[in-house]
Amino acid sequence: MSAEYENDFEYDFESRIVSSTFSESEDSENEPTLRPRTLDEYIGQEKAKENLKIYINAARNRGEVLDHVLLYGPPGLGKTTLSAIIANEMGVNIRVTSGPAIEKGGDLVALLTNLGENDILFIDEIHRLPKAVEEILYPAMEDYVVDLIIGKGPAARSIPLSLSKFTLIGATTRAGQISTPLRDRFGVVLKLELYTVEELATIVTRSAGILNIPIDAYGAREIAARSRGTPRIANRLLKRVRDFAQVKGNGTIDRAIADYALNRLEIDALGLDAVDRRMLEVIIKFYGGGPVGLETLAATVGEEAITIEDVYEPYLMQIGFLSRTPRGRCATRLAYEHLGIPFTDTTAVGQQIDIFSTGQDGEQ
Ligand code: ADP
Repeated sequence: MSAEYENDFEYDFESRIVSSTFSESEDSENEPTLRPRTLDEYIGQEKAKENLKIYINAARNRGEVLDHVLLYGPPGLGKTTLSAIIANEMGVNIRVTSGPAIEKGGDLVALLTNLGENDILFIDEIHRLPKAVEEILYPAMEDYVVDLIIGKGPAARSIPLSLSKFTLIGATTRAGQISTPLRDRFGVVLKLELYTVEELATIVTRSAGILNIPIDAYGAREIAARSRGTPRIANRLLKRVRDFAQVKGNGTIDRAIADYALNRLEIDALGLDAVDRRMLEVIIKFYGGGPVGLETLAATVGEEAITIEDVYEPYLMQIGFLSRTPRGRCATRLAYEHLGIPFTDTTAVGQQIDIFSTGQDGEQ
């Protein structure tokens, strides 16, 4: 792996925007050793992995550049990790940047002209590329050429500049926000899914091994079950639970110390944190179980709408606590049961106000 790649790796962490939406600091996430380096080390996402293996092998056998790849799914599922793995498996360099970091066309042209043959350009949050910059990508992706504009106004001339053949890997939390011309230029589109508890337990055990943290299978499973289907959260919880195991326990993470630590961190048995619970409570207590519009919900909970959509909703929908309807978000019976609130038909709003106005954190 090249030195250039290692530097970009560090840069990527610092420039992440999605991660800043998490309430907890992610300083200790800065441990590249936890990232798997090969497809075989990359746990889960079997469907995406199988397909990628075929595309990578085919491109390598033909000695050709890999087709452009679009990865989409909620934050922390391993999009950045996977693109680094693709570079590693292809034996090429990767340059890492993000949509909001490329402000002007010239920034992108500089990145593109510096790529070597078959190299990878990884653009995180590609849906946030400015439109003018995005347009430069079209001919670059299709014909490996950019048009340099020299001069201004009527005297401006465009000079085509050919690029080395390269692979663009775009990552996004919201595939729906990518314009059709851009999406159509990706030959490979892969959706990353939330991980199962078993997969996360394997990831936790692997990370514990790398970080030299003693852990048993029950401890790993407890952390996995409370990680909202997300490896980044699993790794972060592992590190926090380790602190409790060292100070309050005997250093080994077992089920009891994991349970104790996660309760102290206010992460419940299903991995919901204070914001998740507050969101569900708001829908139930203030809006009779829904439907409530995203913006209204965001304002009441005090989070940004985009954070609610990208970070909180995918998991709540996955476990069947929240449904999205054309008129807004609704809490399901399962959510009521989890919060210990008697389920009432959402059409009986009048009744519900009576029932819940006596609740602990009633009208705020
Ligand atoms: P994204 O780019 O989707 O936000 P990242 O690639 O930054 O997510 O992954 C977050 C963290 O989760 C990484 O540090 C990595 O250690 C871990 N991780 C992600 N996917 C996997 C996986 N499939 N197997 C093991 N660890 C993973």
